[in-house]
Amino acid sequence: MRQRIVAGNWKMNTTLLEAKSLTAELMGMVGDEVRGDVKIIICPPYPYLHALQSQLGKSARIEIGAQNCNEHASGAYTGEVSAGMLKSMEVPYVIIGHSERRQYFFESGKQLAQKIDGALANGLKPIFCCGEPLEVREAGDHETLVKEQIEEGLFHLNAEAMKKIVIAYEPVWAIGTGKTATTAQAQEMHLVIRKHLVDKFGEETANMVPILYGGSVKPDNAKEIFSCADVDGGLVGGASLKSRDFVEIIKSA
Ligand code: PEP
Repeated sequence: MRQRIVAGNWKMNTTLLEAKSLTAELMGMVGDEVRGDVKIIICPPYPYLHALQSQLGKSARIEIGAQNCNEHASGAYTGEVSAGMLKSMEVPYVIIGHSERRQYFFESGKQLAQKIDGALANGLKPIFCCGEPLEVREAGDHETLVKEQIEEGLFHLNAEAMKKIVIAYEPVWAIGTGKTATTAQAQEMHLVIRKHLVDKFGEETANMVPILYGGSVKPDNAKEIFSCADVDGGLVGGASLKSRDFVEIIKSA
């Protein structure tokens, strides 16, 4: 059975104090209410990673991830953070290729492939995002685009490396808009991705890769989305900033 995962992407939100209280609330609620082996990951802004990592402690039920990393190992890239730096802070996960990075920071497929390599070389587990904007879906080209994104970012890997990747399918038209993909739309795209992985890496590998859904996941729609055969959990934006909502979503997985 594939690992079920619920990851929260806090984006550029919270002060340090707010981040610490949100983490404390989550630790309490998760400890009291969450059973089973769903993996829980929070991805706060870079400056809080170290403090929250210490707050969570080594044996924490909640793990931590970064929202991005630079593709270079080190050097004159002012303001950037490398995969090696994340490794040195014992951060186990990193989101790569979020649609906001692709859209606002013009991250290309080639660059994302380099980030994936840098993350894996440093022992990090990448959460690789893909998904189509509204106009692409309306033109009926969503399958082609998402397959291309997967090819560009991940198809240079061998099967062993691929087993370390988590994929998040996030239709851009559903991110932060309140619009969620229907269960049929989500399952259809997750299956497209799974089959594409089967073609390239074989059944065994493809069946081990968790594929998360992202896009306006909320407590009232999470159960339905997570019930799809090829949806292995969620990448949650807005709702991950509210401890009660995030914990209800985790419980749905
Ligand atoms: C996201 O940004 O990854 C996301 C899914 O956001 P939201 O849940 O707010 O749509």
